Amino acid sequence: MASTTDYKIDFTNFYNIINNELKSTPTTRAAVNPSTLAPLPAVPVSTKADVDAAVSAAKAAFPSWRDTPIEKRAALLNTFADAIMANFMDFASLLALEGKPPTAAQFEVDFAVKHLKGTAQLRLDDEVIEDNEEKLTKIRYTPLGVGVGIVPFNYPFFLGLGKMGPAVLAGNAFIWKPSPYTPNTALKLVELAAKIFPPGVVQALSGEEDLGPWLTAHPDIRKISFTGSTPTGKKVMAACASTLKRVTLELGGNDAAIVCDDVNLDEVVPKVALGCFNNAGQVCVDIKRLFVHEKIYDQFLAKMVEVVKTFKFGGSEDTEGAFFPPVQNAMQFEKVKELFSSIEKEGLKPVIGGEVEAEAGAKKGYYFKPTIIDNPPENSRIVQEEPFGPIVPVVKWVGGEDEVVRMANNTDMGLGASVWSKDLEKAERIARRLEAGSLWINTHQDLAPNVPFGGFKQSGMGHDWGVIGLKGWCNTQSLMTRRSGGMF
Ligand code: NAD
Repeated sequence: MASTTDYKIDFTNFYNIINNELKSTPTTRAAVNPSTLAPLPAVPVSTKADVDAAVSAAKAAFPSWRDTPIEKRAALLNTFADAIMANFMDFASLLALEGKPPTAAQFEVDFAVKHLKGTAQLRLDDEVIEDNEEKLTKIRYTPLGVGVGIVPFNYPFFLGLGKMGPAVLAGNAFIWKPSPYTPNTALKLVELAAKIFPPGVVQALSGEEDLGPWLTAHPDIRKISFTGSTPTGKKVMAACASTLKRVTLELGGNDAAIVCDDVNLDEVVPKVALGCFNNAGQVCVDIKRLFVHEKIYDQFLAKMVEVVKTFKFGGSEDTEGAFFPPVQNAMQFEKVKELFSSIEKEGLKPVIGGEVEAEAGAKKGYYFKPTIIDNPPENSRIVQEEPFGPIVPVVKWVGGEDEVVRMANNTDMGLGASVWSKDLEKAERIARRLEAGSLWINTHQDLAPNVPFGGFKQSGMGHDWGVIGLKGWCNTQSLMTRRSGGMF
């Protein structure tokens, strides 16, 4: 049996991983650390030939991986999880360079590994729907073949593993395409996976913006599992139509949190504030619209400002307890800056923040001061759009349950939503009327490997995680045995 030292890897040079070999490319590129603006170590720029090589290796690997018992596939996932832990600090330090303070990077690695271990416990058993003298009828779930995970920049480690684990457990060969803004940890994870899985089962390709379209167009790829923005998700779905690839789309969100008038502010405000500003607003299920009952609105807002003042923002160098990162890249920085300009144009009232910190000269890097907008109109941009930055609107809920449900559902997005109340019956009554894939009561962003995750409306289709997520990596196949009697 291998010891954990067999799984130590070197974190200096970065390669594509094709058929378990480390492959360089003629040209390379470098992502940028958003807190120092220093370049990260160079990574490959894949060519179309690299895509073809990875797809053929995956195709060749698929039949025997499909036929490997799920217990064995799960065991290798567990070995992989242990191997990541053997390199824990190296992974966390590299992830910090990709845009998080060390504390947050360590949290992500730890969370992702636990999630992977939880995934390895899932099983996809045949379902017997008829078992009598005449017939035995079963439903089976069989892997699709070559699958690709296209991953965004905000949780590159967790979201990538969150696709790879279910894909591979279900018996598919998997190609990981990281975001060009955060390719480094993904390449190292797959370099490590190559020491554990058979050749071609887990591969990684890094590249520029043409890489995603090459993958979505490739005729030998059976599924794209995409996490990213809604506009890109629509392009992915359109591109997959010509080969009828299966698609799972995990897209943008505009999560509502509804705060009832009976909450204990001391307990609830810190949790809600964390739910708003976690990863500086760059979580698909961060709270992006807060509806607070008018009876407690003023106290809630004052308390929230107090709490947010204690939040420490920082980057890879901030070891002194910072948990909140800068915005991850220049493109996102410009987008959020443009939204910040709506504060003045629409005459909105920030009760804290409202400034671009980098421009105020306080910190290098893509920082904004965490910003709370006091009761903006329902049709303002900050209520209608997903900022993906540290700015949140708090809206006064005037009226009854119907009115708050109407406001919460008044969006094209439908990823998550939460209700906060001591009265759990009332909270569930409100929650059940909300149009979102994940509903939470007295919590938000609570994710688990055995709970399906997916969006309503333009937040996506299909699911990651849970047995439903595993089924998304499979064909559904019916198997009927006629034991006696005629044909029909
Ligand atoms: P993005 O859509 O810009 O990019 C996501 C990935 O798609 C990247 O790897 C990118 O290289 C690739 N890509 C870009 N164009 C492509 C194309 N034409 N074909 C194929 N691939 C292409 O998203 P982002 O800016 O990295 O991430 C932020 C967005 O992701 C936010 O909207 C956020 O809400 C969403 N998100 C959703 C979830 C979820 O689970 N629903 C989780 C995290 C982030």
